[in-house]
Amino acid sequence: MMTNPFHFPLEQPTITLIIPIYNEREVLPLCLQRLAAVIEQLDIKTELLFVDDGSKDTSANYLLEQVWDQFSIRVIRLSRNFGKEAALTAGLDYARSDAVIILDADLQDPPELIPNMISQWRQGADVVLMQRRSRAGDSCFKRTTSHLFYRILKHLGRPEIPSDTGDFRLMSRLVVEALKKLPERNRFMKGLFAWVGMPTVILEYDRAPRAAGSSKWNYLGLLQLAVEGITSFSIAPLRYVAILGILSALIGGTFGLSIGLKALILGDPVRGYPSLISIITFLGGIQLFALGVVGEYVGKTYMETKQRPNYLVRDVLKIPAAIHRNGVIRVVEESHAQPR
Ligand code: UDP
Ligand code: MG
Repeated sequence: MMTNPFHFPLEQPTITLIIPIYNEREVLPLCLQRLAAVIEQLDIKTELLFVDDGSKDTSANYLLEQVWDQFSIRVIRLSRNFGKEAALTAGLDYARSDAVIILDADLQDPPELIPNMISQWRQGADVVLMQRRSRAGDSCFKRTTSHLFYRILKHLGRPEIPSDTGDFRLMSRLVVEALKKLPERNRFMKGLFAWVGMPTVILEYDRAPRAAGSSKWNYLGLLQLAVEGITSFSIAPLRYVAILGILSALIGGTFGLSIGLKALILGDPVRGYPSLISIITFLGGIQLFALGVVGEYVGKTYMETKQRPNYLVRDVLKIPAAIHRNGVIRVVEESHAQPR
């Protein structure tokens, strides 16, 4: 592959690992250990950028006690829990390196794949996308619904979102800058990533089970994310409810005609009460459903017009790598600040 002129030569390339955390105290020690073992092998300056998404446990405090030789740590503390998508947005806004890698704290995205991702980037890829070959950690129901979701997205979505990919990926500075230009409040990250495009390499991997702690998602949250994913990138549902309306009108019309003809030709007395009720409820259901779909888009438009920031930062704390420490362990870099 051709060397990308935007990347190289870089005098001293740097990479940021963006890790959103929400109540991950249990898994953090293992997470840091596994990362340290991997980063030790890298010939690239590495920073861990944790976005503490309003954790209610001692995750952030634990991080502030950490001093490692292998990497420096920055912790962005958000003012409250904004959700993973907002946390990722914050991470991308604050990263300053030549490339970033997004990964989950729970080690479901194995850090051991990082060297391979970096080497793909060095060979010219702007995006190194990690595609799940298996999902050992997820229940059968989650696997099926997730599969279904990607199929629906594929059908509706423009641009196409590659199936079975999560947020685990490497992105070059070029891509990060492009993402930062997308102003929308509805941050369906996978959709935004796909919208940006750029030369992409897909690597397959086996998704591990969560190393410790518990998933922060419930099915309602995932359903919301799915609706968000579909409606923020496609207005096809609006078209589909219109088609549904036309179809039901056609069925209703044909039914009415057949009853009329039956009465005229066969003199059949029309005993219509049960069929009337079922048709009324059927149509009522379709109308409410259509209204709901339209409402979803109106609501989205309303939320966008408010122009509220996607997240608020409480403070940013920096813990330099031990070798660069110079006796200063904690520096409050900036506070109450938010770029853009
Ligand atoms: N996360 C977050 N904010 C939230 C929920 C989750 O920053 O509101 C982080 C979480 O700490 C983890 C990642 O997002 O690092 C993925 O979360 P989780 O493992 O719970 O999701 P799952 O893997 O079950 O989809
Ligand atoms: Mg997980």
